[in-house]
Amino acid sequence: MRELIFLQPVFKQMLWGGSRLGTEYGYPIPGDHTGEAWVVSAHKNGDCPIKNGSFQGKTLGWLWENHPELFGNTGQEVFPLLVKIIDARDDLSIQVHPDDAYAREHENGSLGKTECWYILDCDPDATIVVGHNAGTKDELCRMIDEKRWMDLIKIRPIKKGDFFQIEPGTVHAIRKGTLILETQQNSDITYRLYDYDRLQDGKPRELHLQKSKDVIRCPHTDAATGTETVQGEGFTRRTLITCPLYQVDKWDVTGSAVLSQNHPFLIVDVLEGEGRADGHPIRKGDHFLLPWGYGDCLIEGNVSLITSHT
Ligand code: ZN
Repeated sequence: MRELIFLQPVFKQMLWGGSRLGTEYGYPIPGDHTGEAWVVSAHKNGDCPIKNGSFQGKTLGWLWENHPELFGNTGQEVFPLLVKIIDARDDLSIQVHPDDAYAREHENGSLGKTECWYILDCDPDATIVVGHNAGTKDELCRMIDEKRWMDLIKIRPIKKGDFFQIEPGTVHAIRKGTLILETQQNSDITYRLYDYDRLQDGKPRELHLQKSKDVIRCPHTDAATGTETVQGEGFTRRTLITCPLYQVDKWDVTGSAVLSQNHPFLIVDVLEGEGRADGHPIRKGDHFLLPWGYGDCLIEGNVSLITSHT
């Protein structure tokens, strides 16, 4: 099938969310605490409706179930990726995700979670948390028991365009004043390690200290990212990450360029600008899929894109 499949975001209200998904992307957000737009998702907690074409009104999850041939008949049980845009007006809790093996055993056969972050925008003094300072598991457990959070976590300054790969077992947190495009494994399993002692409806949110201790990798090591940049006819393409679960690339197109879709599927997120994709108008905030066997897609205009595939 040679049809672009545009998706409609599903929104999540969060204590720490803001309104930038409405003001900057023009999304019809439900309120001024909108923390997440699930922009490419087949997850049961937020399954994106299809906006156009033969399957208009169905969801991505429905399409995956009923037309596996559009995704290369890979035999996987669920659509493997989930893309979100996150607007953190306040700090998110400090958390960690399990890997597939731990989640299978402890979370009803769910997938673990590997994720990656592209910083779309942030305040000049914005920071995030990636990693920790404990040398060994014993030291980690001691620091957690003694609540030495500020000694434990690694806080890093960030700027627009930075990219981080968050492997399972990595302590991490998005902090206030940050807009992020997150590409992740299709999973919703998170262990909360520390929540700045905040209260929600008068009570602290639940922490998952034992599971966190089980899954946090010691010592922390940064994943290698930003592996390769290619200058082509009308585009610059930077490969942000290639890992066993996904590849994510950043494209800057000026004039026209060809995207080759020779993967099970290709996700395209439009970060900036406007133009056309095989004649369809595209603009900042659009997200679409090129199905299996699509071949070449002509991108025209001045646009920045993130593409992802398995
Ligand atoms: Zn996470």
